Amino acid sequence: MKMRGMYSGRMVLALGLLAASLSVQAEPLRVVSSFSILNDMVKEIGGDKVMASTIVPANGDAHSFEPRPSDAKTLAKAQLLVVNGLEFESWLPRLQQAAGYKGPQVVATEGITPLAFEGGADDHADHDHDHDHDHDHDHDHDHEPAHDHAQDHEHAPEKDHSGHEHSHQHGSQDPHAWQSLDLAQIYVRNISKGLEQADPVNAQYYQGRAKDYAQRIQELDDSIKTRLQAVPVDKRKVITSHDAFSYMGKAYNIRFIPLVGVSSQAEPSARDIAQIIQQARSEQIQAIFVENTVSAKLVEQVARETGAKVGGTLYSDALGVPGSGVDTYLGMMRSNTDQLIKALQP
Ligand SMILES: [Zn+2]
Repeated sequence: MKMRGMYSGRMVLALGLLAASLSVQAEPLRVVSSFSILNDMVKEIGGDKVMASTIVPANGDAHSFEPRPSDAKTLAKAQLLVVNGLEFESWLPRLQQAAGYKGPQVVATEGITPLAFEGGADDHADHDHDHDHDHDHDHDHDHEPAHDHAQDHEHAPEKDHSGHEHSHQHGSQDPHAWQSLDLAQIYVRNISKGLEQADPVNAQYYQGRAKDYAQRIQELDDSIKTRLQAVPVDKRKVITSHDAFSYMGKAYNIRFIPLVGVSSQAEPSARDIAQIIQQARSEQIQAIFVENTVSAKLVEQVARETGAKVGGTLYSDALGVPGSGVDTYLGMMRSNTDQLIKALQP
């Protein structure tokens, strides 16, 4: 029986190859992406030559994602896997093993010089540890030996942050590079190259679409730079839920202060929150944003206590649902800019 199964599998493969070589209208390439933003890029470049699907769905949190058996099934049938890399998808190796996927893989961030993952809160860490008051903590740290948050970030970046509301299992590098339209150009090149290699018959088609897409990304980048001129640089300070916006901040000279990621506790301590509230007041930060993948609870609390207005929702690590206007990468970047400008312009 086993032999027969293998034989028929080979037959199918042989027929598939025959069909691909004989017919221009071959089956679309089955491309699976780890999360929704990559999936949209694959659709843009792959057009009708690909059948694209994502593992982490719209509005899903890729940091704390737990694959389902159906995800293994989807991946098992893939002909190309597209991932972000920079340790964004901590759950992926296990899923790949479950799926038995050994096909080609595109690492979309390959060639990018990543930002160091500092949790975006050096300031906090510094103030926090001017004096040695590690033992004054008024709450239980689960008896972990190292209580120095700054040290946790510098020396133990692989620390498992799971079990918190928004767990951030990341490495020492910031994976959120898609938040820079400039770096998205590298994503586009890598994905296009992966499609061309996996499906050489349609290489020209992919190259043409990639070129067109790259052009549109460039145009949006230019228009954002122009529009942001309406906001004085010293006003470009906002509080967000988690530390996902460093690349965007660097690209457009905006300071994003995250609530999560300021300490080894993904759920910040009362002191962490008090410090952010103090900072928000002293720096007169006007806007604080909810994120589509993170609970709004903390943001609302800080907004209440500082009088900062909730500026709306920023799309950080996932697209919105179809039809929402933020269901594409470009739509999401445009929407984030709209929200920021609306909240910040004088
Ligand atoms: Zn994130």
